[in-house]
Amino acid sequence: MNLKNKVCIITGAASGIGYGIAKRFVADGAKVVIADLKLDAAQKAADELTAQGPGEAMAVEMNVTDETQVNDGVAKVVETWGKIDVLVSNAGVQIVHPLENFPFDDWKKLLSIHLDGAFLTSKAILPHMYKAGSGSIIFMGSVHSKEASALKSAYVTAKHGLLGLARVISKEGAEHGVRANVICPGFVKTPLVEKQIPEQARDLGISEEDVVNKVMLGQTVDQEFTTIDDVAEVAHVFAAFPTNALTGQSLVVSHGWYMN
Ligand code: NAD
Repeated sequence: MNLKNKVCIITGAASGIGYGIAKRFVADGAKVVIADLKLDAAQKAADELTAQGPGEAMAVEMNVTDETQVNDGVAKVVETWGKIDVLVSNAGVQIVHPLENFPFDDWKKLLSIHLDGAFLTSKAILPHMYKAGSGSIIFMGSVHSKEASALKSAYVTAKHGLLGLARVISKEGAEHGVRANVICPGFVKTPLVEKQIPEQARDLGISEEDVVNKVMLGQTVDQEFTTIDDVAEVAHVFAAFPTNALTGQSLVVSHGWYMN
């Protein structure tokens, strides 16, 4: 089970969990595409990872909600490396508000990044995987693909939606040797989560300490954050698994916050 010379596109990989997955894949010999909003941040990440080796990384500027940028980015990868073996659709944001105050524009923005992003990148990549007769698509879900939390109507809706999309791709992709799965992490300390701590304290009227200890970690078995490395390890399993027996699944990695 290794990723040597596998071409892996990871969206939102200039930062946080996406970067951690890219690092894990490059360490295993993969050719990784850092697809992110800003080319300079993506290039910096790609340079760091190529220096680390033994795999290599390239940067692609990609707003996952922009069909032209997605298609152009995917075309550039195929032109450069000739194929795509793995897609990790990871780019995401968090926006929290009580539903009655949730600005419609924020709702649409969040759903677009998570759902349009997964749809557009999958749509652009599937023909290349079908042609090759193999491929692994991985969506970055969340415990919020299975659970709900106050203030997170848009995020919970989007993350539940990814389960459905992955299951459809696993059915449509089967005859072409393509599988699709979802990773569902608990809270991981990345910029996305750091930003939420004061926002949730404000909206819930509690201290930042209580946001961390009660809201984020209160239902874990050991009051621990999930780490980027934990999530990267699960991504590696879905990417490198040798057969398509592992398809249409979602795996929760959350210190027991959610058990199924
Ligand atoms: P992060 O903010 O550290 O990284 C997100 C990355 O996505 C950034 O590099 C950003 O530039 C990029 N991005 C944002 N919008 C984009 C767009 N339109 N097109 C391309 N790139 C875009 O966040 P993170 O915590 O690493 O989150 C990554 C994924 O993991 C998200 O889908 C998030 O929902 C999911 N997730 C995070 C946690 C957590 O606790 N951090 C838990 C479960 C799931």
